[in-house]
Amino acid sequence: MIDDRWEWAERESKLLAPYAFSSLATRGRVHPEPLHPYRGPFTRDRDRILHSSAFRRLSGKMQVFTGDMGLYHRTRLTHTQEVASIARTLGRSLRLNEDLIEAMALLHDIGHPPFGHCGEDVLDEQMREVGGFSHNAFALALVQQLERRYPDFPGLNLSLETVDGPTQRADKHSPQAPLLEAQVVDAADSMTYDAHDVDDAWKLGLLDESALATQRLVRRALERGARPPQREADRRRFLVHSLIDLQVADFLQHNRPRMESIRSAQEAMDRNLRLELSPEIEVEKKLLERFLFEQVYRHPKLIAMRNRATDRLRQLFLLLENGPERLPVRFQKLAQEHSVTWAVGAYLAGMTDQFCDDQYLRMVEMGRRQAEDWE
Ligand code: MG
Repeated sequence: MIDDRWEWAERESKLLAPYAFSSLATRGRVHPEPLHPYRGPFTRDRDRILHSSAFRRLSGKMQVFTGDMGLYHRTRLTHTQEVASIARTLGRSLRLNEDLIEAMALLHDIGHPPFGHCGEDVLDEQMREVGGFSHNAFALALVQQLERRYPDFPGLNLSLETVDGPTQRADKHSPQAPLLEAQVVDAADSMTYDAHDVDDAWKLGLLDESALATQRLVRRALERGARPPQREADRRRFLVHSLIDLQVADFLQHNRPRMESIRSAQEAMDRNLRLELSPEIEVEKKLLERFLFEQVYRHPKLIAMRNRATDRLRQLFLLLENGPERLPVRFQKLAQEHSVTWAVGAYLAGMTDQFCDDQYLRMVEMGRRQAEDWE
């Protein structure tokens, strides 16, 4: 039943497709709260995520390239904002629940530790005995436990559907598809990083235009212009928006007919409806990703950065694990509740790249120098 005090429910009833997830169907929150008059449950989730410490720290966490490689490329925060923007475009066009999409998009990378995937590998290796580390699991720990915004309960107390996002992403082989809203966020994530990694890598000089032109998806994107821009920087910008537009258009065109007969969000899940790009574009996209993997993610400059970050993070982990009294008081308490290893992992995972480097210098390098002085 739609209560006329809830203007968001009224709006959804007019705008959403039958297969969209209606905010009124939410399973609610772990700690029950009354519905809000002018913000739907997922709009509130979006605001809670936006105001969290972990979200703000995304500005200091690397996506692919670190701060010492320049200041103008993507961080995990700007990546997240690009994902949210593209996901909302997809969601609006498909008449899905945009509020849920936005909340899931802002949440999707919140559990990443400093130094991206190499940071994740170090924490996973050091935390083996307590079940390892994954950014999806850590995202849950952040929003359910570690964030402190309310006096009555820990965490952000998000709606269960928003919290499901990270769990479902980790389970790609379930016989039941995730909500269409969650799938749109995943698709937008992939479209976004392919396009912006091309942009940043070209701009940073890790890739040149002739190498990129070997890629069919790149040629296809460039050919969409009436004539290629004269200046290289303009061609780079044109390529990025053309790559995004090409994938968005293909995704919408390919999936719209596949969704037409679906009468509810539950039916889409039960029928295991997986949203995807057309087979032709998917093949070209996979080739581009393999190319980026070889040419960019394994570029000597990035490997050197990762080796340095891996080494520092591992040393910092071991130092704190062997001397947990160095942890902030809050994490010492967590060490008592969970384990020292878990608390050290949670402390390090929350750090920005710069804070992590600073702590390494202060605790490991300066500590070592002091020790040498005593000898
Ligand atoms: Mg992402």
